[in-house]
Amino acid sequence: MFSYRHAFHAGNHADVLKHTVLIATLDHLLEKEAALTVVDTHAGAGLYRLDGDYAGTSGEAAEGVLRLLSDGKAPASPAGPAKPAIKKAAPEAEAPLADAIARYLSVIGDFNPKGGTRVYPGSPFIVQHLLRDHDKLKLFELHPTDARTLDANIAQLEAGRQIAVLREDGFGSATKFLPPPSRRALVLMDPSYEMKTDYGRVLDFMAEALKRFATGTYAVWYPIIPRPEAHDLPRRLKTMATKAGKSWLHATLTVKSSKITKDAASGATHRPGLPASGMFLINPPYTLKPLLAAALPQLVQRLGQDRNAAFSLDSDG
Ligand code: SAM
Repeated sequence: MFSYRHAFHAGNHADVLKHTVLIATLDHLLEKEAALTVVDTHAGAGLYRLDGDYAGTSGEAAEGVLRLLSDGKAPASPAGPAKPAIKKAAPEAEAPLADAIARYLSVIGDFNPKGGTRVYPGSPFIVQHLLRDHDKLKLFELHPTDARTLDANIAQLEAGRQIAVLREDGFGSATKFLPPPSRRALVLMDPSYEMKTDYGRVLDFMAEALKRFATGTYAVWYPIIPRPEAHDLPRRLKTMATKAGKSWLHATLTVKSSKITKDAASGATHRPGLPASGMFLINPPYTLKPLLAAALPQLVQRLGQDRNAAFSLDSDG
């Protein structure tokens, strides 16, 4: 348990999908004046260095946010502009960026005012950056090291009572904030799925959350990997939303094949890493689907690594 550290994965293609959806959803929810509470059940460390040891070791951001920024050229360096082109940009890559992607990149840019992409904000910092003074943010993080780092990062914001960091089980205790006093909330559920029981715990959490607060907006990230629980999760969430009479939206992004290959010469086995992920939302903003319909084909175009790259976008309406 607890070997997952998000610092190795920060800014990868899954973060690009998750954070693009998160920002587009928040932008809409924040149009209303009434206070919003955001509950981040699996918060991570909050801020990441893309030029640091963790991200440097895994290089996942190079296939995510850095590739997106490099506009079809070699992945941009965390420290500065893109290296010379190694891949000719396809015509679609030259089209203007879809609004949701442009907005995502502009938020990431806000954390890097001197240019480059040294700093990658995790969900807590993205959310805090967008919230207004009267909104609230509840952050759950159980990993002792990440919780300490999150605490220290959040302390620097001097946000006072606007943000609460809880070293508690997000699955088990985040529903205590539902419904919030203003009866407006976004819950982001982004577990590491290190243990296959996480899939069932997501469903248990969602069932309880919908019982307590049926009108909240819920966003669940999940990995698309060859595991039955991963394939069942969106199907079960869809059934749950439908039974509750709630609207839903399901978006996926695949960047490469999930096949394990063998190098003919060396015989070495190559595991592809995370090939795809999805976001499932209950009570999504009505503005989200058209934004994603424009953004997802561009994400496939720009982040796709082989001919398996694809997206899907489905909703109840
Ligand atoms: N939401 C973050 C973001 O977008 O920047 C990334 C979160 S990461 C995928 C998942 C985090 O959940 C890890 O930092 C892990 O330590 C933490 N975690 C795992 N199980 C947890 C639990 N039961 N309650 C709260 N946090 C947990």
